[in-house]
Amino acid sequence: MKVTQHIENANGKPLFSFEILPPLKGQNIKCIFDNIEPLMEFKPPFIDVTYHREEYEFKELPSGLLEKKIVKKRPGTVGICSAIQNKYQVDAIPHILCGGFTKEDTENFLIDMDFLGIDNVVALRGDAVKSEIYFKPEKEGHSYASELVTQINNLNNGVYLDADLQNTNKTSFCIGVAGYPEKHMEAPSLDSDIYFLKQKIKNGADYIITQMFFDNQKFFEFVDKCRAAGITVPIIPGLKPISTKKQLNLIPHRFKVDLPDDLIMEVVKAKDNEAVSQIGIEWCIAQSKELAKAGIPVLHYYSMGKSDNIRQIATEVF
Ligand code: FAD
Repeated sequence: MKVTQHIENANGKPLFSFEILPPLKGQNIKCIFDNIEPLMEFKPPFIDVTYHREEYEFKELPSGLLEKKIVKKRPGTVGICSAIQNKYQVDAIPHILCGGFTKEDTENFLIDMDFLGIDNVVALRGDAVKSEIYFKPEKEGHSYASELVTQINNLNNGVYLDADLQNTNKTSFCIGVAGYPEKHMEAPSLDSDIYFLKQKIKNGADYIITQMFFDNQKFFEFVDKCRAAGITVPIIPGLKPISTKKQLNLIPHRFKVDLPDDLIMEVVKAKDNEAVSQIGIEWCIAQSKELAKAGIPVLHYYSMGKSDNIRQIATEVF
């Protein structure tokens, strides 16, 4: 079922959903099931599975020259989605990127998803490859998520890359896109970021799912700005409980989001990571309860491969 239908059917009761990442190459599907199992009692209508593009590794040869190797450390997004749908009868949502995909690759990926009975997809640009500073699209690929949304929307209308194809199957993907309450790191301003977010909606996106944030006020202001800009689709907040001291620096560096001073000071004073994890859980419960009270349709949690803390939060909130 489509995410938008799940929201309509919920009759105002907030839904619980979460995101997982594929295991490192060499692991098996059991790690995924072990991650999901403790969260199933909270009846997630959908589970997101991230996509991880290739990385470049440089190996030193005996000659002293460097050999460039292309590696994909976390393959399996679509396979995992299919396995989840089969085992739990829950919608699984693959993320799909512009990065590393030509338009042809994208079309074939979407055809596979359609054949597997996947109804939803989150369309993203992706970041630069780890060893590079700027995002570079493939030669025959998309530069922005808005272009990827157009391609998916075209397929929903039976328009394939090969214009000569006749009597084509129309897919029916519900399309999610990313939004950034504290603006995307490359955007010159929040207003310009929202301007381009609106482009993704105009091109066919059905809902927005946000980057993590730790101050609900930032989310509420972002929603107000989106509504003022004429964006009417559901906006799903992404939430992440802090679990280690290191994340105080990692999160702002990696995701360009701020942490409130109260939270920072609590974490700084914590005696170990067990205490930090408890602080993160309590902060996230407070955030979740306030969002639920404000009538937000879905609360979406970044599990990052751990379910213990998300389980404790869900027990208090849902
Ligand atoms: P876009 O919407 O294309 O925007 C990128 C930047 O370009 C923004 O600054 C925007 O303002 C600007 N922009 C957009 N259009 C134009 C234009 N026409 N002209 C000029 N500027 C423009 N990454 C992964 O690799 N795998 C994942 O599974 C994944 N999942 C994610 C899930 C969520 C909910 C979120 C919030 C992020 C996720 N990411 C993931 C990270 C994401 O790929 C990066 O944040 C990426 O840098 C931007 O992706 P986007 O889809 O938001 O890009």
